[in-house]
Amino acid sequence: MNLIILFDIDGTLISTGGAGRRAIQAGLREVVGRPITPGFSFAGMTDRAIMRRALVEAGQPVDEGRIDAVLQAYLKELPRQVEEAPDFEVFSGVSPLLKRLDGRDDLVVGLGTGNARRGAEIKLGRAGLNRYFRFGGFGCEFECRKELIGEGIKRGARLMGRPVSNCRVVVVGDTPADIEAAHHNGADALAVTTGSWERSRLEDYRPRWLVDSLNDEVVRSVIGC
Ligand SMILES: [Mg+2]
Repeated sequence: MNLIILFDIDGTLISTGGAGRRAIQAGLREVVGRPITPGFSFAGMTDRAIMRRALVEAGQPVDEGRIDAVLQAYLKELPRQVEEAPDFEVFSGVSPLLKRLDGRDDLVVGLGTGNARRGAEIKLGRAGLNRYFRFGGFGCEFECRKELIGEGIKRGARLMGRPVSNCRVVVVGDTPADIEAAHHNGADALAVTTGSWERSRLEDYRPRWLVDSLNDEVVRSVIGC
């Protein structure tokens, strides 16, 4: 069926139990030299967009070099925070779904995530899920989610050896940003309510499917497994 599936990470596959936020705060502290507590939700944002907004909010000078510096300091801290997070969780239905998709030759499974590539590896490493994802679009490459989803789609099509126009694409995510990025790229959005956004608010963005967990029967029919 030439299907490309792109999964978001935080709020969709796993919760790091606040480890990501703690590592970002540590990264900001290292670069700025004092504690910074960002007063906004990171849900749906890319890593670079989070760093930029946090620096602006703190009245700091912002340029690409400074965002890179915070990103590097964050990635240095992240393994320890993820490893020690008591509330780290892999959501219900995730592992069985990925196992069912593994090895299918009619589809490819990748990431469409605001996480930096290395951050994604660290987070999924604790969950034992890295082996399921062969490619992706990542938040270290693009600050804008729509662009990283576009890149993920191109990479998936290349892996399938098909033009993008011959592929069906499903973007799985937990925020309006995932849904909008899917629609912007001509993909279907499968939204899950396992993140911080409520069902009624996600509905406003008109995902093609909206489920409470990846265990839902709808997911099996969408993906044909
Ligand atoms: Mg998310």
